[in-house]
Amino acid sequence: MVTNTEKNYWHVLLPSVRGRYSFGAHLSNLTWFQVGGPAFALYKPEDVADLQYFLKQKSADLSCFVLGAGSNVLMRDGGYNGVVIKLGRGFSQITIENNELIAGAAALDRTVAMFAMQHQMSGVEFLVTIPGAIGGAVAMNAGCYGFEVKDVLAWIEIVDSQGELRKLYPHELNMTYRKSVLPKGCVIVRAAFKIIKGNIIDIQHNTQQYLQLREESQPTKGRTGGSTFKNPDQAKAWELIDKAGCRGLAIGAAKMSEKHCNFMLNTGGATADELERLGELVRQKVKESSNQELEWEIIRVGDSPVLKRDAA
Ligand SMILES: Cc1cc2nc3c(=O)[nH]c(=O)nc-3n(C[C@H](O)[C@H](O)[C@H](O)COP(=O)(O)OP(=O)(O)OC[C@H]3O[C@@H](n4cnc5c(N)ncnc54)[C@H](O)[C@@H]3O)c2cc1C
Repeated sequence: MVTNTEKNYWHVLLPSVRGRYSFGAHLSNLTWFQVGGPAFALYKPEDVADLQYFLKQKSADLSCFVLGAGSNVLMRDGGYNGVVIKLGRGFSQITIENNELIAGAAALDRTVAMFAMQHQMSGVEFLVTIPGAIGGAVAMNAGCYGFEVKDVLAWIEIVDSQGELRKLYPHELNMTYRKSVLPKGCVIVRAAFKIIKGNIIDIQHNTQQYLQLREESQPTKGRTGGSTFKNPDQAKAWELIDKAGCRGLAIGAAKMSEKHCNFMLNTGGATADELERLGELVRQKVKESSNQELEWEIIRVGDSPVLKRDAA
C-alpha cells in the first residue's frame, strides 16, 4: 500500500507518456487467481517508443513489475507499491518472415499456435494449451508435452531498464526449467520462434491431442496459476504432494485441486494470503513426508496486508 506522501512524490515524477496510467488499479481483475490489492499505478504503453520513453525517464527508485496474462502470478492482498506495466494492443502483432514467427509480447500463446497452424507452419503447437502471453512464456521458459520455449526460440527484443531497445539470443538468456535470466528491469516486447513448413493434418492432430490431454488432466477453467511448484530433480511435485496427503487440502477458499494436486485453486472469495499460506503448508508437509524442498513456480508479488505501511 502506498502512502499519500509517496503518491504525491511519484505523481510528479511519472513521465508524461502517450500510453495510459490507471492509479489504484485493482490487480485482481488481471490475474488468473483473481486475488490481489491495487497497484499505485497500472501503465499501459501505447507502443515500443512510449515504453522506451517511460523507462528512460522514470525515477530509478520507482519499482516496476511487468504483468503478462497473469496466469503464473499470485498478487498479494496489499497490492503493488509501484507501477505495473501491462502490454496491450500495440504489442500483439504476429507475422511470419521466412522460417520465423515473430510475435508481440502481448500476443496470447494460444493465438500464436493457431496463427502458425493457419499458415501450415509447425514448431509451436505446444503453446496452444498454455494460457499466458508470449512475454510470460519467454520469461518463464514455459513448456509442456516435452517442449519448452527455449527449444524453438530464435531471438527476443527487449526494452532494457535504461529504455534501450536490444535484441538478445537464447544463449544469452540461460534458459532452464521454467526460468530465463533476463536483464534486470527489462520488458520483453517481441519474440521470434523457429518454425518449419508442416503437414496440416499432423499439426491439427497434435494440437487437438494437446488440448484433449489438458482438458482430461487439469482444472483448466478454474481460478488457478497452473503448477504451484516446480518438479524437483528426479521427482514429480504432484506425486510428493499426493504422498503428503495434500490433495484437496484447503485453507479457507484456497484449495489444492482434487483433479491435479499441484494446482492451487481459488474456489471463490479466497485471499492471496490464504493461497500463499496453503502453498507454504504444502511445502512443510512435503518436507516432513519426503524430505524434499518444493520450490514455488508461481511468482508471488507485492505486499502482504500485514506489511501495509499505511496501517503503521
Ligand atoms: C490452467 C493453467 C495451466 C498452465 N499450464 C502451464 C504449462 O503447461 N506449462 C507452463 O510452463 N506453464 C503453465 N502455466 C503457467 C503460465 O501459464 C505460464 O508460466 C505462462 O507462460 C505465463 O505467462 P503470462 O503471460 O501469464 O505471464 P505472467 O503470469 O503475467 O508473468 C509471469 C512472469 O513473467 C514475467 N513477464 C511477463 N511478461 C513479461 C514481459 N513482457 N517482459 C518481461 N517479463 C515478463 C512477469 O514479470 C512474471 O515474472 C499454466 C497456468 C495455468 C493458469
